[in-house]
Amino acid sequence: MKKATSSEVTICGHTYDEYIEMVKAFHGHVAPGMALSGFMVDLACRNLPQGEYFDAISETRKCLPDAVQLLTPCTVGNGWLRIIDLGRFALSLFEKYTGNGVRVYVDSRKLGDWPELKGFFFRLKPKKEQDFEALMAEVRLAQASIFGLQEVMVNLDSVKTHHRGAFAVCPLCGEGYPEDDGETCLGCQGKAPYLRCEAPGSRGD
Ligand SMILES: [Zn+2]
Repeated sequence: MKKATSSEVTICGHTYDEYIEMVKAFHGHVAPGMALSGFMVDLACRNLPQGEYFDAISETRKCLPDAVQLLTPCTVGNGWLRIIDLGRFALSLFEKYTGNGVRVYVDSRKLGDWPELKGFFFRLKPKKEQDFEALMAEVRLAQASIFGLQEVMVNLDSVKTHHRGAFAVCPLCGEGYPEDDGETCLGCQGKAPYLRCEAPGSRGD
């Protein structure tokens, strides 16, 4: 990632407008949280410690994971992004072998000058009463000024991905599943989210 040299607002090497277009394509709509998240990922990337390989942690499920996936090589699917849902709007990028990294969070003490942002962040008014344009303008003006930056050392044991054990064929559904889950797969143990799950047209009614 290149360090920005001009005074133009950039997010990980993209102009702000480019980033907003990327958000539309990936996230479906321009959420204020996505604009905020772009600046957070950018700040983290500018402050990475020494190292070559970085993993990411998002402390929320909302917006921030999508910004990490848009702007860094870390995704949920490749395992380099973990969501540890602490309910805090914060992320860390850390060197994967040492755990050394940086954490960026929204500093609630710095929101005083930004009424729309503060209202949005603390959900002080219902969504339909929010002034979307004013909110987006504040996010763009505030940029990284409302964030805090910390150095962190991640407990690597706590983010280790489980190596999967042996797989078996479930006697009920016939699909592969981790043997450790029991006699049948978790889906057949009643944990599947479906009210109905069958071959197309097999209802016969
Ligand atoms: Zn099954």
